[in-house]
Amino acid sequence: MKGLAPWGSLQWNTGRERGFFESAEDGLELKRQRPRLLLHSCCGPCSTSVIERLVSEYDVTVYFYNPNIDPEEEYQRRLASQIKFIEGFNQSRKALETEKGVLTFHQVEFIEGEYCPEDFYEVAQGFDNEPEGGQRCVECFRLRLEKTAKMARWAGFPIFATTLTVSPHKDYDVITEIGLYFGRKCGIEYLATDFKKKNGYARSIELSKEYGLYRQHYCGCEYSNTDTGKETDK
Ligand code: SF4
Repeated sequence: MKGLAPWGSLQWNTGRERGFFESAEDGLELKRQRPRLLLHSCCGPCSTSVIERLVSEYDVTVYFYNPNIDPEEEYQRRLASQIKFIEGFNQSRKALETEKGVLTFHQVEFIEGEYCPEDFYEVAQGFDNEPEGGQRCVECFRLRLEKTAKMARWAGFPIFATTLTVSPHKDYDVITEIGLYFGRKCGIEYLATDFKKKNGYARSIELSKEYGLYRQHYCGCEYSNTDTGKETDK
């Protein structure tokens, strides 16, 4: 993905993926000091503390693939919040390193996956009445992690991870089992990390406030957008 212009599109799958990438201004290949990691992100707020934790060890590319989000206005709002964080984070990291006189930080890159709600409804079919955390969520995790693993393999990432484990409302063991399964299937590594630990969830709230991010009050799909669901912070 060397040298792609900002908001270039990717010729993968249906070709509707797009994103922004750090490009080599001098025309030379970017020198990477760390392994590249594709991070599936469910939303800007959850990604904050995960990105902060990962950038010292990996060159992170965020993959925003969430066809479960309903309605589309909400999807656009979460997408905008994700981009706002990455841009703000890149700016502040660069400024910090410039101040210190060391430039080692590799900008966080971004890919937006295809937003196709039909893909979510296909896997959620028959599970409309499941409670949050039930089989519908398992299928929703599978959909998003399978696509992320395939994208990682296609784009040459040796490792992938997900921000889903930041949430105290999501089952870490279930997510890990799915991540490891698709990692094995695609021949790449899945980084099994419980990102809510080491103060990860609290830090995500702190960073979301710091960067002025929109924080939603339901998980994402129409079934979770109920009065009861809204009581639970994502
Ligand atoms: S509640 Fe959340 S994880 Fe479960 S199906 Fe809906 S969007 Fe997916």
